[in-house]
Amino acid sequence: MVSNLTALVENVITCPICLKHFDQPRMLPCSHTFCFQCIQQMVTDNHGVLECPKRDGVKVEGNNIGDLPLNETVRGLLQLFENPNSNIPLCDRCGTNEAEHWCDSDCKHCFCTKCWDSIHEVGQYQHHKKLSVKDKPLEVPRCGEHNDEDQTLKYWCELCSKEMCGNCQQFKHKDHKFVLVTEYVKSLGEKTENGLQGVQSCVNYRSDRVDKMLTEIEEESRVNQSEVTTAIGSLRQLIDERERVLLESVRNTEKDEKKKVEDYKRKLQGEQQNLIEQILKFVVVCHDKNPKKLLDAKKPFEDYIKATDTKLLELKPLTRTEKGLPGLKALKDMETQIRNITLETLKYDNEKLRQLIACIPDKSTYNLSNLKLTDLDMEIVAKELEINTSLTKLRLFMNQISDIGAQHLADALRTNTKMEPQIRKINVTPPPIYSNPQLTELITNNVNSTSVNFSSKNLTDQDMEIVANELLQVNQTLTLLGLDTNQIGDSGAQYLGEALKTNK
Ligand SMILES: [Zn+2]
Ligand SMILES: [Zn+2]
Ligand SMILES: [Zn+2]
Ligand SMILES: [Zn+2]
Ligand SMILES: [Zn+2]
Ligand SMILES: [Zn+2]
Repeated sequence: MVSNLTALVENVITCPICLKHFDQPRMLPCSHTFCFQCIQQMVTDNHGVLECPKRDGVKVEGNNIGDLPLNETVRGLLQLFENPNSNIPLCDRCGTNEAEHWCDSDCKHCFCTKCWDSIHEVGQYQHHKKLSVKDKPLEVPRCGEHNDEDQTLKYWCELCSKEMCGNCQQFKHKDHKFVLVTEYVKSLGEKTENGLQGVQSCVNYRSDRVDKMLTEIEEESRVNQSEVTTAIGSLRQLIDERERVLLESVRNTEKDEKKKVEDYKRKLQGEQQNLIEQILKFVVVCHDKNPKKLLDAKKPFEDYIKATDTKLLELKPLTRTEKGLPGLKALKDMETQIRNITLETLKYDNEKLRQLIACIPDKSTYNLSNLKLTDLDMEIVAKELEINTSLTKLRLFMNQISDIGAQHLADALRTNTKMEPQIRKINVTPPPIYSNPQLTELITNNVNSTSVNFSSKNLTDQDMEIVANELLQVNQTLTLLGLDTNQIGDSGAQYLGEALKTNK
């Protein structure tokens, strides 16, 4: 079998919970698969309900886990992988016993020992070539046109994409390029395996990524909730405090106003008392029917009336208007303001990038290198790719684009077919697993230098990949690169060597 098949299969037959090979792989409605025992454990740990640990929201009642179907595909793989000998065929003659021998002579069949012995007992049969069934040679079909003994279809014509025999190869397909069928099949296997591995690592990468996103979303929400609670809490405290202060101020106003009115009232009461006394005097005088007394009293009465008039003039009548509280309006406005606070998140946009694109005079070439662009920016660039069909060159070196951003571009490029194919390739780079921001910064500052010195910077092999991609392949004027006293091994040197092939 092919080299890394193990890794490919291990990935599929390993339970993500216990990290061992599946034991009774049961499939959830979301098609995620776990050992039955692991499922039981999850139910126990989660109050009788199974929630898919891949966090896709799928739930199964604990009572129903017995009905979860066995994942036959995984089980089949598991069986093949754990007992590679399990596909021993049955005896071609009796059809009941497991075959043990292969007759490589005329019979070309596999037999159990009993059947072999009974067939190969006599005559010519005794000399038949007996092989273990495991060593049964590959069945190679014969050529339909050349039916000789050894005209098996053992060659593959690369031009005609078909199998051919030695005769066909020498005459009919004389000048065609060919390989052995076994080699072609082997390379086909490797190609398929690589393809499957590519799909697997892409699927795994994305699924890890969305898992991480879920965690990020939860974490962000947690932080935001606590910030809202804190902000509202301190607002609530402030409001309670202001309520006390404002009520106090209203009560003080009441006290002040009342005091003024009461003082006034007291003065007025004094005058009322005086008036009653004067009225009494006047009534007594009138009662006497003695004109002399009235004449005598005239002056004091006149004095009293005059003095009191003056006093009343000074003691002006009190007036008051309802004052209202202008501050209350502010409180009401505040209420509306608070009611209108929402916490909708902002939609991502990059106005600067849009303007930059709009201002590029030559619509066939965009150089968007070194702009700290992210995957989100690639959505903007992708839209542009769909609109601008005259674009043929797009440079995106030295940005922070992962395969997610590259995917947006790749999708857009399906509609923009004028784009140079090599650009397509450059865009779709694997996700940056390792990064060194300080180094990238250093490189950015030296992107046009002819001589760069990175000595004694503790750089490693991984850093050399960055130097190769971000400096050597971009800076075409560089002639001297100092890298003494770093921790660079063979693989680091390899990166540099590859890059220097393009930087001449
Ligand atoms: Zn398990
Ligand atoms: Zn699931
Ligand atoms: Zn048999
Ligand atoms: Zn035989
Ligand atoms: Zn042939
Ligand atoms: Zn051919």
